[in-house]
Amino acid sequence: MVELKNPLYQTMSLSTQTLHADHHLRETPEVSPSIGVTTTFLYKKDDVTANNYGASQRYVYSRESRPNTTQVESTLSTAMEGHAVVFGSGLTTALAVLLHFKPKKVAIGESYFGIRRVLAQYAAIAGDVKVVSAECSYEGVDLVWLESPINPTGEIKDIACYALRAHAAGAKLVVDATLAPPPLSYPFRQGADVVVHSASKYLGGHEDLLAGVVVSRGAAMAEDLRSIRCALGLGAGSLETWLLQRSLTTLSVRVTQQAQTAARLVALLESFRRCAVSTACHQPSAADLALGKRLASVRHASLQLLPCAEAQHPHGFGAVFSVSFASKTQALFVAKQLRLHAFATSLGGVHSLVDWRHGWDATSEPSLLRVSIGLESFDDLAADWRQALTALDAHECAAKL
Ligand SMILES: *Cc1c(COP(=O)(O)O)cnc(C)c1O
Repeated sequence: MVELKNPLYQTMSLSTQTLHADHHLRETPEVSPSIGVTTTFLYKKDDVTANNYGASQRYVYSRESRPNTTQVESTLSTAMEGHAVVFGSGLTTALAVLLHFKPKKVAIGESYFGIRRVLAQYAAIAGDVKVVSAECSYEGVDLVWLESPINPTGEIKDIACYALRAHAAGAKLVVDATLAPPPLSYPFRQGADVVVHSASKYLGGHEDLLAGVVVSRGAAMAEDLRSIRCALGLGAGSLETWLLQRSLTTLSVRVTQQAQTAARLVALLESFRRCAVSTACHQPSAADLALGKRLASVRHASLQLLPCAEAQHPHGFGAVFSVSFASKTQALFVAKQLRLHAFATSLGGVHSLVDWRHGWDATSEPSLLRVSIGLESFDDLAADWRQALTALDAHECAAKL
C-alpha cells in the first residue's frame, strides 16, 4: 500500500496542505491533477501470477481505487489528522463504519435523519441491534454516534465529554463533523475515535458533488474500510473525486469566510429578536420591532456560550444556523421571501441556502428554517433578511385587519 501521508506537510497550514499534500503521488508533471476515468489498469505482465496481479501494482480496477481517489485521500488524511477513506456519499460512510465495528448497541445523539435511517437498515441486516439515546447510560453500548455541530441548528456538543463517557464504557466514539470541517474543528483532539464528513457539504463546497469521507486514527481501520468499499462498491466516481480535490484547495478560505459571515448574521438576527422582547426597558422603533417581533428563536453555537467552545472551535463555528417563527406558515413565507438565500436543501456550499427541514424530517419543528451561509457578502445577506422580515411583518399585520 502506498504511503498516503507526506509528513512534510503535517505542521503546515490548512491551505498549504490542501494545495500540496498529495504531490508525492502525482505521476505526471501536471500542476493541477487531471481527471482519470479508466475503470481498469494494465497488469505489469512480468509480475502476474495466478490470482495475483502483483504486490507492486498500485491500481487494478477502479472499484478498489484510482489515482484521483488516492490523491484526495492523501490530502484529506493530512488535513484531517488521520487516515481518510472516501465513499460515494455521507450516508455511505455511516454504513461503512457500522459494517466495520458491527455494534450490537448504538447510542446516537441528535443527528441528521438520514443517519438514523442507515442505522435502521443496518439493524435490519445485523439483527438484534439496540439503539439508545446518546444522553442516556452507555452500559453495554459499543458505539456512540455524535453529531457536532448538529444539523439543523448549528449548535455544538462537548465532544471531550462524550469521548470520556464512551471510553469509560468501552465504546468507540464516532463524530459526524460535517457541519464544521477543518479549520473549524478537529474532533480527534477532543478524543473522537473516528470522524466522518459528508463531503457533499463544505468539503465539496459548490453543490455539485456527492461524496463522504471516514477518517480513522489508525491505518488498520482505513484498510478494512477500503476492503468494505471494494466488496460492496461504495466508492465515489471519478468526476466526484476530481471535483473534491479541486474544491479542497479553497476549503480554508471558503469555510473561514462563510463562518465569519454566518456569525455576524446570527448576531444581527438575535439582536433584532432581543430588541422586540421585554420592551419595558427600551422603546424600539416601529421598524426595529417589525424586524424582530416575528423571530421566535435563533440557534447557533455562537449563542450557546459553552465552556468547550473555544478549545473545540479555534477558528469559529459553522455557517449553518436555524431560525424559528411562530408558525409553519410564517417560516415558509420567509423561506420564499428571501431572495439571495436559495430555497433548497443541503448546506456548506458557496451559495446561501434556506431549507424547511420539517419537509424532510417529521421530528424537526415545522416552524424552523435551517440557514446555510455561502460566500455572498454580509451586507447583501443582511439586507435580504431585513426585507424578508419586514415583508413578513407587513403580511401578518395585513392578515389581522
Ligand atoms: C448531509 C449530511 C449527511 C449525509 O450526507 P450525504 O452526502 O447527503 O449522503 C450526513 N450527516 C450530516 C450531518 C449531513 O448534514
